[in-house]
Amino acid sequence: MPAPRILVTGGAGFIGSHTCVALIEAGYQPVVLDTLVNSDARSLKRVACITGVEPVLVRADVRDAAALDRAFAAHEVRAVVHLAGLKAVGESVADPLGYYDVNLAGSLALARAMDRAGVRTLVFSSSATVYGDSHPSPIAEAAPHGPVNPYGRTKSMVESMLADLSRADPRWGIACLRYFNPVGAHESGLLGELPNGPPNNLMPYISQVAAGEREYLVVHGADYDTADGTGVRDYVHVMDVAEGHVAALHRAARRPGILMANLGTGHGASVLEVVSAFERASGRRIALRIGPRRPGDAPAYWADARSAWRTLGWRARRDLDQMCADSWRWQCANPHGFDDPVPALVPGAALFQNNDRGINIHSNRGHTHV
Ligand code: NAD
Ligand code: UDP
Repeated sequence: MPAPRILVTGGAGFIGSHTCVALIEAGYQPVVLDTLVNSDARSLKRVACITGVEPVLVRADVRDAAALDRAFAAHEVRAVVHLAGLKAVGESVADPLGYYDVNLAGSLALARAMDRAGVRTLVFSSSATVYGDSHPSPIAEAAPHGPVNPYGRTKSMVESMLADLSRADPRWGIACLRYFNPVGAHESGLLGELPNGPPNNLMPYISQVAAGEREYLVVHGADYDTADGTGVRDYVHVMDVAEGHVAALHRAARRPGILMANLGTGHGASVLEVVSAFERASGRRIALRIGPRRPGDAPAYWADARSAWRTLGWRARRDLDQMCADSWRWQCANPHGFDDPVPALVPGAALFQNNDRGINIHSNRGHTHV
């Protein structure tokens, strides 16, 4: 039996590439559809290094209906994981139409193409930003939406569109995953986040300070009403997030309707706690300066993670120390990203140094499939 194929839009990106690893480990064959506007096709070679299977890449735009039809016709796609999108909050404020186009029109084009192809199982990358900043934590899925920027509104609108679709046509099975703060890297050191320019996000910034690429971290505000005055977030390991997609896929394939699930640990960590954890993981001191609050930042929020456990049987298994250790391993092994040679940190990695095809070194485990 060939492995069931899953179309992964945005699969060459940070979360998408890790999701490809989790899908392959669960016995699926990812078919990645990506423009590579914010990613690098070499991430898929790294997926092959880890799993022995290289995802097929369809270089196309998720808004391109004809390209979607061709992809569904060419590959026997069983279900879709939809991660393709733009994600920079500040950019979404400056260019709202660009964000509505890619995130909203892209999701609409994809849902229509899925319907034409008769593929009606979908996992959608949503975000905790749909909640806005007025809810007490932990935030449960039933909390009303209140996004405070165009990026968050695109995610909220796509969720509403998918909810309407599932009400109108009970053949659809949909899971919307609301990620909190995905960080970390694959434990092999082969796959991780590649920020474009100076990182906006905390973990990659700290990592670059630890590596000596940046002088110090600016802490955006130490006068919040939190235990140590710095902002609190629910950081969740990217491989936990990736495995959440597999759990969501199983659920969406088996149960029609729509499900919203938080992907978070259920615990918050402050900026200073993350800094301390990174210092432990790296053995390096992180220089920091306290700066003013960043406009638009919420003081503190974290997930109520109980519903994801109840509905998906998923919960985060990796802690903050592991998130930092894996980020640091990725940073040290790939100071120039994918321009660096494949680091020989995992047994067999050297085998793939010049191997474009990917050889199956791991057998897929016996899981049930969609
Ligand atoms: P990423 O930028 O690394 O991945 C997104 C991928 O989509 C990239 O490979 C990019 O090239 C591709 N893409 C962009 N526009 C496209 C288009 N029009 N057609 C096809 N491909 C396109 O980002 P990520 O962090 O991996 O995020 C993946 C998804 O998760 C996004 O939808 C994002 O909004 C969502 N999300 C991310 C976070 C986070 O903190 N990283 C948090 C919540 C939600
Ligand atoms: N942060 C910081 N310095 C930085 C980047 C982020 O102090 O250089 C803080 C930020 O104010 C927030 C937390 O770290 O309290 C997480 O920020 P990030 O941008 O990673 O995630 P988001 O704010 O989008 O949840």
